Amino acid sequence: MKPSNYHRVFAHAYKKDSLLLFSTRYCSKIIIKRNIWKSSQNTELSQESEAILKRLGMIVDDREEEKRSISCSFEELNNNNTSLDIIAVLNLDCNFACRYCYEGDMKGRIYMSEETAADLIDFIRQRFDHKKKALHLDFYGGEPLLSLGLIRDISLQLNQLLKEKNASYSFGLVTNGSLFKRKTAEELVGLGLKTVKITLDGPPHIHNNNRPFKSGTPSFETILLNIKETCDLVRIAIGGNYEHDNYHEFPMLLDILINEGLTPDRIAQIKFDPVIKRSDRFLSPTDFNDGCMSTDEPWIMEATLFLREEILKRGYKTTGIRPSFCSIENHNSWVVNHDGLLYKCPGFIGMKEFEAGDLKNGPSDYSSSHKTGIWNNSECLECAYLPLCFGGCRFVKFVRDGNLDSPDCQRKYFDTCLEALVKQDIRYGIKAER
Ligand code: SF4
Ligand code: SF4
Repeated sequence: MKPSNYHRVFAHAYKKDSLLLFSTRYCSKIIIKRNIWKSSQNTELSQESEAILKRLGMIVDDREEEKRSISCSFEELNNNNTSLDIIAVLNLDCNFACRYCYEGDMKGRIYMSEETAADLIDFIRQRFDHKKKALHLDFYGGEPLLSLGLIRDISLQLNQLLKEKNASYSFGLVTNGSLFKRKTAEELVGLGLKTVKITLDGPPHIHNNNRPFKSGTPSFETILLNIKETCDLVRIAIGGNYEHDNYHEFPMLLDILINEGLTPDRIAQIKFDPVIKRSDRFLSPTDFNDGCMSTDEPWIMEATLFLREEILKRGYKTTGIRPSFCSIENHNSWVVNHDGLLYKCPGFIGMKEFEAGDLKNGPSDYSSSHKTGIWNNSECLECAYLPLCFGGCRFVKFVRDGNLDSPDCQRKYFDTCLEALVKQDIRYGIKAER
């Protein structure tokens, strides 16, 4: 037996004779005596210890075989994937005037037409073969609830279609939360709504400055009231976008939520992300900042750990450490823009070079434009972080460097943060996400 390529060893917080092992492939962890781990290198393990370490992915029979198997990870995932995931951008309209909104001049009364919605349903029908068991749509905007009629029509038709196929239909909303009233929530839950992601940019004085209504009126109280009215009907996740100057004030939002009765049992998840500065070439949905993006700027690493700790110590759930599965590598994941153009990542919406076909003519070959499999090289296959990285985020790489010529290497980020993240997960009993 040999140590897996995809593990890290950390010192135990206070037991000098013990180590903390973390498998980056399975996100499993174990505390082990130093001498036992040492004997695993000399094949002197007891049968029981060998079986445990093998099951957790810390040791393998053959490291070359392990590399071959990980290099085929996405092939396997794609072949065995029984669900189809679609992000549908319903409009570019919004009732907010967010300070950092990058839709800029493109924002306005631009909506997905009924004809495009019909094409979307045909597109889904064509892709929903007998192996597929579930369809999940996320409705984005602008503000998707400004297209409530379309959400209703699309969902009614998809419920019918998926019933015929003996499969399930569910959908989510990424919304600013201001229009999500109880009556709307009740109706949408009946149509398949399962998750709602609402953005609160910190405590009121920051949020209201960042995300006022178009009229300039503050929006914090309205959103809070809507969350209180609807959180028993649907899983509500709260996201928020912080900046260097204000991230340390975000814990005040967590305390407000608790004081207002939005306790951890009533909120599905909280996650804060940095505002990503983009040029006006990027027309991605207003609240697109979904946490798959990463960055190795030192202050952001510090803010990530700080805010995660504040969220966890108040008992809220947040995302755990998990293997990366960028939707660019997922053959069953599409972003459909309001005009019917297809993309692989919401970040690339509106960029000619990242179009991936359209609803009428179907997908085009995007493998070279998006550099799929850019991580499948000898350096990455040797890297312990590969399962958590798989070449990082193409979107962040393009924003930063203007090209996708090399991976968005996350070695520095994981070298700095992984140990602290794993130890945070242990302290708060967070289970591995796979
Ligand atoms: S390119 Fe980045 S933001 Fe887009 S889906 Fe992949 S990881 Fe997420
Ligand atoms: S891009 Fe960097 S961190 Fe990611 S697998 Fe390759 S070497 Fe490792």
